Order: sequence, then C-alpha cells, then structure tokens
Amino acid sequence: MTVLRLAGVTRRYGDVVAVDDLSLDVHDGEVLAVVGPSGCGKTTLLQAIAGLTRLDAGRIELDGAIVAEAGGTFLPPEQRRVGVVFQDHALFPHLTVAENVEFGLSGKGGLGRRERVARRHEVLELVQLAHLADRYPHELSGGEQQRVALARALAPRPALVLFDEPFSSLDPNLRGDLRRQTARVLRQDGATAVFVTHDREEALSIGDRVAVLHDGHLEQVDAPPVVFHTPATRFVASFVGEADLLDGVATAGRARTVVGDLELAGPALEGPVEVMVRPHEVVVSPDPAGAAVVRDREFRGGLVQVVLDLDSGERLRADLHHDRAPVLGTRVAVHVDAGHGLASFPREVRSDEPVRSTAPA
Ligand code: ADP
Ligand code: MG
Repeated sequence: MTVLRLAGVTRRYGDVVAVDDLSLDVHDGEVLAVVGPSGCGKTTLLQAIAGLTRLDAGRIELDGAIVAEAGGTFLPPEQRRVGVVFQDHALFPHLTVAENVEFGLSGKGGLGRRERVARRHEVLELVQLAHLADRYPHELSGGEQQRVALARALAPRPALVLFDEPFSSLDPNLRGDLRRQTARVLRQDGATAVFVTHDREEALSIGDRVAVLHDGHLEQVDAPPVVFHTPATRFVASFVGEADLLDGVATAGRARTVVGDLELAGPALEGPVEVMVRPHEVVVSPDPAGAAVVRDREFRGGLVQVVLDLDSGERLRADLHHDRAPVLGTRVAVHVDAGHGLASFPREVRSDEPVRSTAPA
C-alpha cells in the first residue's frame, strides 16, 4: 500500500528551484532515505510533506488523500498525521521525558488517560528510555534527547515520520549506534518514514530504498545496493561512494580498458564508455612491468588508500590492507575484482582525441 505519493512536486524560491518536478511513492512500513549534498532541496521537500511550505506545482497524497496541491488543497501540519524529528531535538524543556512523549497524544482522537500512558510506556520501551521517564531534557545526553524526540514522534502513530538530518550534531560513534537503534525502532513499530541525510553511509544503511537528490531533482531511487553498484548517473556514482571512471570500449557486455577486460552490469552499452570502479574493487601487486605507479598514499586506519597513475594518463584509487599497500613510487600491476558487473556511462569521443589503445594490460 502507498502511504505517501509525490506527483510532480515543485517548490521555487525566486529563481531557485529548490524541489524540481519530483515524483515518487513511499510504501507502507518502508524507510525511504533521501540523500544529497547541502542545498539540494531535502529540507524543502520535508517541509512540503509536513505542510510547512506550499507547492508551486504538483500534488502530495497521504494515505490516499490529497493533502497539498498547487493552487488548491492545503492541509495544515496538524491535519496531516505526520511526525517529525529534526536535528535540534526541540523537546519542551519544562516537561519531563514522559510528559514530552505524552504531549503529542493529548487531544488526539479521544485517547483516554489509560491508553495514553500505555502508548507512552510502549514507545519509551522501544527507544529503551523507560527508566528515564521522569528526567528533564537538560538531564539527558544528546543521543538520549534524540531518542525521546523519536519516541514523541512515533507516539501518536502517525501515517508517516519525517527525519531531517537527526544525528548531524552528534559525534560519529554515537551516530552509528543511534541510526541502528532508529532503524530497529522504526521496524518494530511498523512505521513508514522519510529519512533525510547528507551522509551517504547513513542513507545506505538505514534506507529500504535510497532516493538521491541533486539540485532539486531526483536522480535515482532504488535499493541501497542498486544505487551503490549501478548508479543511474555520474553524480549518483560519486555521491554514494568514492568512484573513478575508466575509459573503455564495450561490446557484448564487456569493456576493454587499460586494466583489462571488465564485465559490465546490464543493460550493457556498446561502443565508447566510462566504467565505474570503486577503490575497494581495485587490486594491485608490485610489478616492474605493471601499468601504474603509486603516486599518493593516505593512511585511513584499517585501510590505506593509494592513488595510482596509470600509464594511459588515467587515475584510479585503491583501498588496500596496510600490509598490502605499496610505498610511493612503486610500479604495480592493477586489476579490478568487483564480483559483479560494473556500471558504465556513455562516453563522447572528441574528434581531436586519439582512439585509445585498449590492448590488455
Ligand atoms: P538542503 O536541506 O538539502 O540543504 P534546502 O531545502 O534547505 O536544502 O534548500 C534548497 C535550496 O532552496 C537552496 O538553494 C536554499 O538556499 C533555497 N532555500 C531554502 N529555503 C529557502 C527560503 N525560505 N527562501 C529562499 N531560498 C530558500
Ligand atoms: Mg536541510
């Protein structure tokens, strides 16, 4: 069942098209992660769904009913059955944890006192904060405050929960914990959610599907592995992970490149292509007759990333175990071991460009 339907949703601010003709559906029980760089329209999109801003074109449906339409219907936020969790947790400072969570339940659909307390207890158990019910927000850590905000948003059983970069102000270790907890809580509660973030790892890990936004328009929406391994555009390729593009010539599902003959993901192109290679897919071995030299080397803890200058003039990055990362200046043989077909994009061959030799490396 479709909970949220966006049809041609457009929002402009003067000359800026913050959200540009965006259409997609979010299904019951699904977590849709929306990811894109700062300024790509993520917050504007959430505001349009929540009823905090109007549309210039298009339509938004929630649970099958139109809640916003350009020049027509516009339901205010309180009539949309939408819960929101923002970066600043926005808890009421003078209310306890329990009171904060119950706040959203009072006056709603005639829930009696007993049901309110039961639901409050249930959501605080879900976020594992039942033991802190009597504390005030200033007596909680940032992560605990964010879990209260989550419990408060879920309490009234909204049709849809919206998250706007909820963990951005937390330290990286805590962010990981909190996103795993949030994913678990949303699933246990059966909630449907749109989770906005600029963090690709967060999007890939929390989303059942990932929508990638660029300058207000939707570039791709797919399951996380599909977005990562077979990005629809060059922008998606480099936004959801580190990616290098190698020139190749494609025939029958394979591309000849300077690092060998590579299998392509379908539907395969024919002719001049650029093949996407991610650093973890690149394997190197010291070889005086190899076709690349280690130009740069960055220690990243578990892995060392080396930058390889290929004799063709192209560049590849490789993530290597520290034991297997050759020193600067080492000549190496390079091959690609992805375990699946690689994404490719059509390549324009300029008239002044010599046709590149694609002899096997
Ligand atoms: P994100 O949340 O992805 O960082 P936003 O939705 O906040 O992006 O902004 C998208 C674009 O719309 C940006 O260019 C931003 O400057 C512009 N914008 C957002 N809100 C307003 C506003 N109230 N008035 C004018 N421009 C705005
Ligand atoms: Mg934003």
